[in-house]
Amino acid sequence: MRVVVDHQACEANGVCEGIAPEIFQLDEDDNLHLLDQPGADSEERVRRAVRSCPKVALSLEGDRE
Ligand code: SF4
Repeated sequence: MRVVVDHQACEANGVCEGIAPEIFQLDEDDNLHLLDQPGADSEERVRRAVRSCPKVALSLEGDRE
């Protein structure tokens, strides 16, 4: 599973960072960075972050479910 960010759609509101801060991080210029790709331990939170993004700017690749 791989997370992809649509930077055009992201409005830097920090919802994803609040749910999975080990993966998503906003910098001081409101650019969203992926710190890592989700491992088994963060998969559930990353799925929740993807569902919770109000701008639908996050998607998952290689997801067979
Ligand atoms: S929740 Fe969505 S809009 Fe908000 S910072 Fe994350 S990717 Fe951007």
